[in-house]
Amino acid sequence: MTRTRLEHCWVPAVNVNERRDGKQADILLLHYTGMKSAEVSRQWLTCAESAVSCHYLVDEAGEITQMVGEDMRAWHAGEACWRGESDINSRSIGIEIQNLGHNNGYPDFPPEQMAAVTELCRDIIERHDFAPERVLAHSDVAPGRKWDPGEKFDWRRLHDAGIGHWVEPAPLGGGVFLQLGDQGDPVSALQVLLSAYGYNAPVTGDYDEQTRIVVEAFQRHFRPGQVDGVADQSTIETLKHLIDTLPSSPIA
Ligand SMILES: [Zn+2]
Repeated sequence: MTRTRLEHCWVPAVNVNERRDGKQADILLLHYTGMKSAEVSRQWLTCAESAVSCHYLVDEAGEITQMVGEDMRAWHAGEACWRGESDINSRSIGIEIQNLGHNNGYPDFPPEQMAAVTELCRDIIERHDFAPERVLAHSDVAPGRKWDPGEKFDWRRLHDAGIGHWVEPAPLGGGVFLQLGDQGDPVSALQVLLSAYGYNAPVTGDYDEQTRIVVEAFQRHFRPGQVDGVADQSTIETLKHLIDTLPSSPIA
């Protein structure tokens, strides 16, 4: 039973199984709960009827509850895809961050909570040696279906603490807009970049609904100043800069 080295309480979840096909965790997946209190979230994540679970829950005060051993498969990602892998639960450790979510006012993440999330991420990454670009949002692996932890989550702060892959977003404004309904080589080029980074963005040459929601997911994580699903110059420059700064280039 692998547990965090940090102070925490332990409330075991029941929706747990073995990681499939010998897969090991190499993704750290961050969520918000979207529920009204940490206590409600804790009960939901540990009861059978919810059909979900998670490794960790961090409440607003920064208290950490572990519910699933890190060696086991928790049920937090659902239908998802990243770099062609669809069984994200077998490949990840999941952290739920208590927050009311977009449907209930989406409050800021308190500093105490961000500090605890940062320390928990650091503890997990160090023990498992996860690559920076494998620290992801639920919205990255389930674009459109999920928005968490959302554009208010401070990925910059995490990166400043040595966690995750992140670059300063290119300034808003400028030209080169691609959007829903556009077609052609520039759209294909954008889709190649998005899928090279890991998103589920088939290269079709059509700026279809799937492309729009993937661009929106990318913005929520990496260019949070404007989350609109429109690939403006800032979005494309930020995406290119991210790919350029990957430890190994995904584009041959
Ligand atoms: Zn989630």
